[in-house]
Amino acid sequence: MSASPRKFILAIAVLAIFSGVARSQEAPLKSITYRLSMSRPTSHLFEVAIAVELPDQLKDKPLQLQMPKWSPGRYAVFDFAKNVQEFRANGRVTRIDDQTWSVDSAGTNTVNVSYKVFANDLSGTFSQLDERHANYNGASIFMYVVGHKPDPVKLAIQPPSGWKIVNGRMDHAGQTEWNFPNWDVMVDTSTEIAPDWTQETFEVDGKKYHVVVHSFGAEGGKRPSLVKDIEKIVRAEVAMWGPPEFNEYTFLIHYAADDRSGDGMEHLTSTQIIEPGALGEAGMYDSTLGTVSHEFFHVWNVKRLRPEELGPWDFTRPLRTRGLWVAEGFTNYYGHLMLRRAGISSDKKFLEQEAQTIRRIESAQGSKLMSAEESSLSAPFLDDAPHAQIVNLHNTAISYYPKGELIGMVMDLLVRGRTKGRTSLDDVMRRMYDEFYLNSPNSSYYLRGRGYHTEDLERVVSQVSGTDFTDFFKRYVRNVEVLPYEEAFSYVGLRLVKTPAKEPFDAGLAIEFEDRVAMIENVRNGSPAEEAGISAGDEIISLAGREVTKDWLKSMARYKPGDSIPITVKRDRRTIKTNMVLKEVERFDYQIEEKPDATTEQKAMRNAWLKGTRI
Ligand SMILES: [Zn+2]
Ligand SMILES: [Zn+2]
Repeated sequence: MSASPRKFILAIAVLAIFSGVARSQEAPLKSITYRLSMSRPTSHLFEVAIAVELPDQLKDKPLQLQMPKWSPGRYAVFDFAKNVQEFRANGRVTRIDDQTWSVDSAGTNTVNVSYKVFANDLSGTFSQLDERHANYNGASIFMYVVGHKPDPVKLAIQPPSGWKIVNGRMDHAGQTEWNFPNWDVMVDTSTEIAPDWTQETFEVDGKKYHVVVHSFGAEGGKRPSLVKDIEKIVRAEVAMWGPPEFNEYTFLIHYAADDRSGDGMEHLTSTQIIEPGALGEAGMYDSTLGTVSHEFFHVWNVKRLRPEELGPWDFTRPLRTRGLWVAEGFTNYYGHLMLRRAGISSDKKFLEQEAQTIRRIESAQGSKLMSAEESSLSAPFLDDAPHAQIVNLHNTAISYYPKGELIGMVMDLLVRGRTKGRTSLDDVMRRMYDEFYLNSPNSSYYLRGRGYHTEDLERVVSQVSGTDFTDFFKRYVRNVEVLPYEEAFSYVGLRLVKTPAKEPFDAGLAIEFEDRVAMIENVRNGSPAEEAGISAGDEIISLAGREVTKDWLKSMARYKPGDSIPITVKRDRRTIKTNMVLKEVERFDYQIEEKPDATTEQKAMRNAWLKGTRI
């Protein structure tokens, strides 16, 4: 659905109320119109034209246009201005800084700007134009007018002949023009333009869901069942949350068949999902459903119920929020759980998945150093960030996705246990959605309601469970203590079984192969490899007197803790010979198992948890 005229009036009214918020809100612009064309697809150059009609008061002021530094949903700073070229205007152009252009049009009524953007990445964050299609994430190609991000905008797209446009805000087939209440909503509307995408539609509770697929490889006849399984996921998630706040929603799915492009990106009325293979290939079907389950959960958690800093955004500096362990971590947890509730996964598979996440977090060095909140604040370094500097994040950081997933699961089970199954994290999330999204006054022009702080969740979970969660937040969210798995699982008649990892010894290094050359990928702090003076980036000449091949661990199986192993590496022009003294393994494998003395009551609570039913 695109913005109705009524929404326009609302947006303007909200603007008037919040006119003090952003600078140069003295008067909205008369109109901002974007024109997007792609006359030479093989050049990978999108052509953007922006026409800005100025009110009289602003006619003599220079107008600034700015490329965002990053895009919502992906929190590394990418500097989209890197790919802008040939910026022109009907006035004097001055480049102000890395992301900003200023146009002094000396008294004219309309400022006309044009530029090109190079785009050749198929991704939820970047954009691609080539001979097969145009697929864009708006934040990577559309500049905003500084101080006027809240103003309504129009968009007209001129596709190459024979190409059709589709996005999550279609009023009718063949549509080429849109009105958006503001720039933020325009760039939230990822768009696909190609001659040969397919579309299937189903309905759930009177809402329409479109599954748009663009395949660059064989589908193996799997598309019809994929659509049926997506419908099951939609039903499971709507059953938890209640009706979503839209009439239509679009899954934009790409099978890139390039063995590298993979992504999932949430939007208000759509999601962009990109798989690296073809639908007909092993693993792609399940991987798509996993991403669908996660991204559709974002319809509520993150796109509408959101941490305070997640919309509207300041694109001149990296994001800073403490809440991504809820926004992404809880979504990861429910993404897995909803596959079970939809009948696509099984109890066994779900519990195995969570046990693996426990292993991942509990064996990560960073778990001892970085809390869930700190991980969230580090998102600009962690979320697909490119690193020019050699960094030690492998040893110091954890991801808020798996850490938040485990906090979500444990919190869910504690709430269930402490209320004898009367309430759960499902109730907490619904209460949060009601309070902060549906029933709070709008805090900005961008969206309904207001964002929450992690303290708000602390209060709501304490209220819903009737127990005080202050200590939980202090120990497990803001600090690095190991989560109370035992208590959590015991409520549903399960236990966590911890066994030493089946590895003969610990060396503390990871090896990667570049072509056939063995390189040290990373070295764990305090490990035998570090004590032997080995560094990430070293090329291994020999290990234990042998050349290193891909099954190096197998050939090392005869060694045990205490053994001293010679290793020779090449670092720059130096050859370094040293010895590693192997240690005992301190990592563990985890399994979530049935407790032998599980009671009927506990089993009933487990059933309610996994199936999403009430006791
Ligand atoms: Zn496409
Ligand atoms: Zn996500």
